[in-house]
Amino acid sequence: MQNRPASALRRKRKQLLRQLPSLEALLRGSLIERYKRCGKPGCRCAQGPGHGPKYYLSVSFPGLQPQMDYVPQDLHEQAVVLLANYQRVREILEQISEINRELLRRREAL
Ligand SMILES: [Zn+2]
Repeated sequence: MQNRPASALRRKRKQLLRQLPSLEALLRGSLIERYKRCGKPGCRCAQGPGHGPKYYLSVSFPGLQPQMDYVPQDLHEQAVVLLANYQRVREILEQISEINRELLRRREAL
């Protein structure tokens, strides 16, 4: 970034904005996989890891235990997309902020 002209940095900033996922489609947290044995006599799950995977959304909050919510199978795929979007938004914000910090260092207009 150091040796790129300010105009290139501003262009890159615009490009990053265009890559921003829809800000409606965000979900913070991570998916946890769980397998459970049902305990029914003769069920094949007794031999394996159990029924599953079942997914839970784990979300952390400062000073609290992570909160867990069950994610129904039919919403799992969407949840995966929204979680990835959240990470992408964070990356993009970080990159835009870095560009602006560099412009500031150069005493360039932001
Ligand atoms: Zn079972």
